Amino acid sequence: MQILDGKAVAAARREILKQKIAQLPAKPGLAVVLVGEDKASQVYVGNKVKACHELGIESIEVKLPATVSEAELKKQIQALNENKQVHGMIVQLPLPKSLDSAKAIGWVDPHKDADCLTLENLGRLWAGTPRTIPCTPNGVMAILQHYKMDVSGMNAVVVGRSNIVGKPMAHLLSQANATVTICHSKTKNLREHLKRADLAVIAAGQPEFLGGEDFSKDAVVIDVGIHRLEGRLCGDVRFKELNVRAATPVPGGVGPMTITMLMENTVRLFELSR
Ligand code: NAD
Repeated sequence: MQILDGKAVAAARREILKQKIAQLPAKPGLAVVLVGEDKASQVYVGNKVKACHELGIESIEVKLPATVSEAELKKQIQALNENKQVHGMIVQLPLPKSLDSAKAIGWVDPHKDADCLTLENLGRLWAGTPRTIPCTPNGVMAILQHYKMDVSGMNAVVVGRSNIVGKPMAHLLSQANATVTICHSKTKNLREHLKRADLAVIAAGQPEFLGGEDFSKDAVVIDVGIHRLEGRLCGDVRFKELNVRAATPVPGGVGPMTITMLMENTVRLFELSR
């Protein structure tokens, strides 16, 4: 079985990006808005800041208490919209329950929307004229491209239909000429769909719920899930059981690609701003 090494693909792309940034006439800037004390979000934001430093992107962190009012959050996002040093912005999700994520995303200037979550940018993506591409699905496409896996004509099954992973993933695969089936929590015969898949992208958020018997031996399996189980990291798939054409491990598969694609989106927004 071929192991699709996302860590290595991410490192190669970051090296190219670093050189590109060094040639730019000014430093691209990425702002991260973090509300509250969620531990996982703090780790993700820390990793994003570190990646910015390594690549030569200016990182602007705005940390707000979980008790922040809607009006204050809006003011902070609008200030970043106006800030000329900021080319890309993300609002780290999930927000505390007292705040409405959809509203907060709606305040982000689409020209600075590094996660591709605003309605304008989702519309552009769907119309085939994207400004940015959602980071995790774009990372999956980059892994497939790196390993020269042409998805054209493949039967692709995407498990999960969230706005941030499943839906844009299905769209990108369809754009690349795969025949796409979207499965979700109400799908009746998930395993039958999976058995027919040439390519399976699993983003259900269910720790190790699929295993070796669920895929055909010719399948390419991409595991987007990330979980901490009994002190170790794992995905949605029991990787050790797999005996397929190729698969991504967890950790070291899709995870390292997501931040890399966020950095690429920031540079793209910088270039578009000029
Ligand atoms: P989500 O909870 O928003 O969506 C999960 C989707 O899976 C839903 O559409 C649901 O219908 C479907 N689903 C749930 N249980 C299912 C089941 N038993 N069978 C079939 N479908 C099922 O999650 P998300 O934000 O899309 O994230 C999915 C996973 O990917 C999570 O584990 C998350 O931590 C991980 N993730 C990883 C990265 C990364 O960088 N690697 C980035 C984002 C998300």
